[in-house]
Amino acid sequence: MTDTTASAAAQLIREAAKTRRGMHGKHAAELLDQHGHSEEAEVIRRAVVERSGHLSAKQAADLLDGDNTPKPAKVRHTFRATARHADGTDCTHKISPRGKAVEPGCTGRHDYRASCTCGTWQDTGPTRAALEFSHTSHRSTREA
Ligand SMILES: [Zn+2]
Ligand SMILES: [Zn+2]
Repeated sequence: MTDTTASAAAQLIREAAKTRRGMHGKHAAELLDQHGHSEEAEVIRRAVVERSGHLSAKQAADLLDGDNTPKPAKVRHTFRATARHADGTDCTHKISPRGKAVEPGCTGRHDYRASCTCGTWQDTGPTRAALEFSHTSHRSTREA
């Protein structure tokens, strides 16, 4: 997308918003499509989805007019852990309160494999709690 077409698209939205009260971001996207600004329309549609529908036409225009370099998405550090059998396969079985295997084909939970949704951290350990602790320190160094 070049800056000139983006600002032309923004201008188009602003003009339309003057006559359409309560114009929504998705209407702005439709308008851009009708005028051949399909790339910009796509930018707006994505923004509408990202903001759970909370994007006015005015905000859509600002988006196109403003800094077009996409901001890096905020990295989330969500902890995920999967129990594993001794042979390394995932254990998704039910386990007795005392940690014993109760389902056929289950050899019991040997350890846990944990990862972070940021993709830069993973660890294994005997308990989920230990991994959560380890993940907390990973997150604190990353979010500092
Ligand atoms: Zn992380
Ligand atoms: Zn199992």
